[in-house]
Amino acid sequence: MKKRVLVIGGGASGMAAAIAAAGRGADVAILEHMDRVGKKILSTGNGRCNLTNRKLDAACYRSNQEDFPMKVLEHFSPDDTISWFRGMGLEVRERQGYYYPASDQASSVLDVLRIRLRELGVDVVCGIEPASIQVSAEGFKVICRKREGGSLKYCGNALILAPGSKAAPSTGSDGSGYRLAQELGHRMIRPLPALVQLRCQGNLYKAMAGVRTEAKLVLSASGQELAQDRGELQITDYGLSGIPAFQISRYASRALDERKKVTVTVDFLPSREKREILDWIFRNRALFPDRSGEELLGGLMNKKLALGLLKLAGIRPGDPAGGWSRKQIEALCRQIKGYEALVQSVNPFANAQVCCGGVDTREIDPETLESRRVPGLYLIGELLDVDGICGGYNLQWAWATGNLAGRAAAGAVRPGRKKRKEETI
Ligand SMILES: Cc1cc2nc3c(=O)[nH]c(=O)nc-3n(C[C@H](O)[C@H](O)[C@H](O)COP(=O)(O)OP(=O)(O)OC[C@H]3O[C@@H](n4cnc5c(N)ncnc54)[C@H](O)[C@@H]3O)c2cc1C
Repeated sequence: MKKRVLVIGGGASGMAAAIAAAGRGADVAILEHMDRVGKKILSTGNGRCNLTNRKLDAACYRSNQEDFPMKVLEHFSPDDTISWFRGMGLEVRERQGYYYPASDQASSVLDVLRIRLRELGVDVVCGIEPASIQVSAEGFKVICRKREGGSLKYCGNALILAPGSKAAPSTGSDGSGYRLAQELGHRMIRPLPALVQLRCQGNLYKAMAGVRTEAKLVLSASGQELAQDRGELQITDYGLSGIPAFQISRYASRALDERKKVTVTVDFLPSREKREILDWIFRNRALFPDRSGEELLGGLMNKKLALGLLKLAGIRPGDPAGGWSRKQIEALCRQIKGYEALVQSVNPFANAQVCCGGVDTREIDPETLESRRVPGLYLIGELLDVDGICGGYNLQWAWATGNLAGRAAAGAVRPGRKKRKEETI
């Protein structure tokens, strides 16, 4: 008997699941509430789609159940992702372990997924809102509201929930999937924005906005170090952005939600020791005593950043360096090596690339992504309490969970009556 598999959500993980299930002979329908599938994929990797990463280990993922992500990914690795895409006719290119489509266009990734769905005969139904799900011994009934009014009922032996998170809701992932998972009995770890900018206290950011510089960031909450990262920091008019700020943001989000005091210590010259910087300033001050602070420090670091740090150290940028006291120079070094930002909030879900939190993974089988509560139900992608760091890890998670669940759902038959997938009610 042909299996009927329903997939709620036509994003990265839902399309992967539908292709995997249909490739195993199942009769598959995707139920998507936007007008089209895969909208988020188009904005990934700045329009180039960083679709996976060769360097993958446990440190690339975070979850309340720490070993869950790798238990899943050992069954579908980055190599599997690359082979899977090549098998669908999409060539990839690598840059230092990061993989992109050969075209460097995210649209090529979406195109190949949509073409494959069509070739496999997957029924892609857009613009309908799954309102309720009924579970019985026969399988699943999903009642959907049509935009123009009325309802449609879809039945299947297996149901795959792939509605994403709450990050970037304009792409369709508006958090409505959490309600569906909860109604099916699943517990949630509170979802919060992650891979997102940090909003910090102080009015210095406006003056330093636009600065991009290599930096090391150490995030602490109520005095306890939680995370650190190093890379190109971007200063905005309200705080900190760029990859290292994104990487530590999920910890800031959680700690702020727990009402802790959150700080980020920024080392603006991480490749130089404090002693080296002190020596450099003393040496150059002796050589060029008439140069202003701005002129002198401009030889060592970004000029706009130097201006801000001089102010923080209590040095007027126009004052000749020859007149600086030892105390002032030491204060300047402290700002360069350990500027302390007080984080007030993170940007909202609209700015976040992913969410931390989601469906508690203790209720999910890591080999198949099947619910331990409802047999025949699979939960995949960002809906789950798993978030990856920047670098292609979140899409890897989507492809992997989609493929594993799709294959399992196609093989997992629940006794069902023979009927059409769709009925007007
Ligand atoms: C700007 C940006 C850039 C990113 N860049 C990268 C990158 O380069 N590399 C990387 O690895 N990751 C990147 N990510 C993260 C990555 O895109 C996501 O982790 C991934 O798309 C999640 O896949 P998903 O299928 O779980 O959810 P989504 O891709 O969000 O798909 C969910 C789908 O379900 C639909 N849906 C939601 N609720 C319902 C409902 N109730 N009923 C029906 N349909 C529903 C949505 O409309 C959507 O089509 C980026 C994210 C953003 C926002």
